[in-house]
Amino acid sequence: MKIIETSHISRRYVMGEEVIQALKDVSIAVSKGEYVAFMGPSGSGKSTLMNIIGCLDTPSTGRYILNNQDVSEMSENELATVRNKEIGFVFQTFNLLPRQSSLENVALPLIYAGYNKADRIEKAMLALKGVGLENRAGHKPNELSGGQRQRVAIARALVNDPSILLADEPTGNLDSKTSYEIMDLFDQLYSKGNTIVMVTHEDDIAQYAHRIVRLRDGLVESDKVNTNVKKAK
Ligand code: ADP
Ligand code: ADP
Repeated sequence: MKIIETSHISRRYVMGEEVIQALKDVSIAVSKGEYVAFMGPSGSGKSTLMNIIGCLDTPSTGRYILNNQDVSEMSENELATVRNKEIGFVFQTFNLLPRQSSLENVALPLIYAGYNKADRIEKAMLALKGVGLENRAGHKPNELSGGQRQRVAIARALVNDPSILLADEPTGNLDSKTSYEIMDLFDQLYSKGNTIVMVTHEDDIAQYAHRIVRLRDGLVESDKVNTNVKKAK
């Protein structure tokens, strides 16, 4: 079953006289349960494509079908609704609320989803358990290591059971040992059937994914099954 299907999408930015064609013609399909890395040099269009896939932006032309919904021409409000339901974001910079505990950070998306407090606590604890941090529920971000912060962010991304885990340079702020821990967690999430889309400029990190798509100048340069998947453990 296809979760992501872009057909001939483009995205141009108009800056005064200048028109920048960030994406030219990108057609990609990702099925449920895949683990894909998007790679490419700076300026190749990775962020632009991620923003579209994550429903933060829409294509200038072409179609984007996300979990059977055509989101190509949705309004900001419609996009926000789809985004909250379908996408779990993980960022390089974790983006946790500093004054809130791990549990409160993880429970945040459940407030918007309308769960009552008891359900929020139960679901957030389960999500923390899923990333091995049930014993850090009361800790604030500054009381956690970088790797633990990223695991809290991953628990928050997954708490609402999204169709896609969308990770933008998830190890960008971590040392290599901690990066392996996060890649090990991604391996586990993949084994459990999560769909993972990761953007990275690090070849070493892309090798953990089961499929590698390379972008160049707003086009797909190559799209290959990774026949030599690296294991973190
Ligand atoms: P990457 O993430 O691979 O570095 P981007 O998607 O950020 O690539 O950028 C692709 C191209 O689009 C670049 O030339 C970049 O300068 C341009 N671009 C990206 N975002 C904007 C924007 N908001 N306004 C104007 N140009 C942009
Ligand atoms: P960068 O990769 O350029 O450092 P980020 O990874 O922080 O930027 O964010 C990537 C994109 O996601 C940006 O377009 C940004 O506006 C958006 N973004 C960042 N944080 C959030 C958030 N908490 N919720 C929704 N969108 C976000």
